[in-house]
Amino acid sequence: MARVANAAPPAGRDAAGDTVLVIGVHRAELAFGDAVVERLGIGGPRVLRIPAGIAAPRTAPGESFRSRIAHREMYLQLRQEIGPGPRLLLDLHCALDESRRGADIFCGDAAFLDRLRPRLERVGIAADIRLVAITGDGDAGESARAARHDTAHTWIPPDVWAAERPRYVGIELYQSAEGAGVPGDWTLAAQLIAAIIDTDAGRPSPT
Ligand SMILES: [Zn+2]
Repeated sequence: MARVANAAPPAGRDAAGDTVLVIGVHRAELAFGDAVVERLGIGGPRVLRIPAGIAAPRTAPGESFRSRIAHREMYLQLRQEIGPGPRLLLDLHCALDESRRGADIFCGDAAFLDRLRPRLERVGIAADIRLVAITGDGDAGESARAARHDTAHTWIPPDVWAAERPRYVGIELYQSAEGAGVPGDWTLAAQLIAAIIDTDAGRPSPT
């Protein structure tokens, strides 16, 4: 099991300080997370850096059960580490896609995604971003969410993604280069993180 280490300065008084940004849940993505955090600079969210994360999801027969358990344990441990204090839990991931730079944003609260969309449009990055509502097994709200957004199931336990506080938002950034990525990847991730924090804080959109 990975140990969670907090490499960040203490939380500030503003919305960024009410946010915990988790990097390295999947260990191969830690270098990318480090590069994004560096780009965020001083005044960014509190960072929870996982130095020895788990492997990315494995869905092959014989592997998926253990992978699913590893994900469940990781996220329950994260929840315990973070506690109910912060308003927002940002979970940063990346995957390689040489054909396009973009991202999927996952949240169990479809209304939050509704509020996020116009902000992404104003920043000029909405076309590259897919908003995905997380749904649970046998979720009564699934069809309503699917009417407005793409939907996805997750191995993350509902204790995490459906919690009222902190609100869970996952980012899967499609980076254009392997490993840590390139500056354009980090910039897009930083723009998304800022947009999500501002949406959560109810800040007015930039004009
Ligand atoms: Zn990942």
